[in-house]
Amino acid sequence: MYTKLELEQFVKQAKQYARYGKVADYIPALGKANPNDLSIAIYTPDGSVIDAGDTTDKVTLQSISKIIALALVLTDHGEKKVFQKVGMEPTGDPFHSIAKLEEVQPAKPLNPMINAGALAVTHMINGASVEERFWRLLQFVRKLAGNPEISYSKEVAKSEFETAFLNRSLCYFLKQHGIINEDVEELMDLYTKQCAIEMTCVDLARIGLVFAMDGRDPLAGEQIMPPDVARICKTFMVTCGMYNASGEFAIKIGIPAKSGVSGGILASVPGRFGIGIFGPALDDKGNSITGMKLLELLSQTYSLSIF
Ligand code: GLN
Repeated sequence: MYTKLELEQFVKQAKQYARYGKVADYIPALGKANPNDLSIAIYTPDGSVIDAGDTTDKVTLQSISKIIALALVLTDHGEKKVFQKVGMEPTGDPFHSIAKLEEVQPAKPLNPMINAGALAVTHMINGASVEERFWRLLQFVRKLAGNPEISYSKEVAKSEFETAFLNRSLCYFLKQHGIINEDVEELMDLYTKQCAIEMTCVDLARIGLVFAMDGRDPLAGEQIMPPDVARICKTFMVTCGMYNASGEFAIKIGIPAKSGVSGGILASVPGRFGIGIFGPALDDKGNSITGMKLLELLSQTYSLSIF
């Protein structure tokens, strides 16, 4: 249905919006990104990939990792246990907001896509040490992407670890209210490594494909997570995946997707394909401005909205 040439054309069009965005620099190492970079890959169940842009560039997952960590803990612990510690409702607030935490009773984060909820989820990753828990998560990511080479950026992890004061304060709030009970520095160590897992947009597209195919990797022929877990993750992508822009994104684009402040977007067109995008120029809500434009062009041209 789409060709590489068309995709390249869309990338060129979307890149023009880079000037309205700005790279994230509150994590100092992310400030080095080039706002004009833009790459996309589309992975289909038969294993074919169509891509355009600088597709060999590796970028960190940042908040995209939240959906993967959620899939892992839901697979490990089941819905009941996970949703005792984190809710299912969108917030309408920025991703790092602390405001709603005091308003809900019992005091648990509203959903796993805001930082407070993601920290509660990362806390639930099984393992005897930070190293073991990170290793389990990394193995899960590698399996989802079908790429055993995937690793993390030590530079980005360190940069976030040294500056994540707001995330630390969220952790202390969660600890006070019994949502987490581990050492805050250990959780921050694990969380910042999780956010610094890096890959190309092709790897990302393959992960999107697994979610699109209800947790099954059609290429390896393996069910990586239960279909219900993939369904819950895709539902969160629709309701909270683009933070407080999720409503507008659902109307304009209508594809389950999750963004990160590195400029990545993981998207899953149910039953059809996975999409991975990297474009570091962000809008004021922390979503890739060029990436969203690119998805809008794709969705409108090929009627990809699920609604
Ligand atoms: N690591 C980032 C943070 O916790 C992820 C945020 C994001 O991608 N929106 O602040």
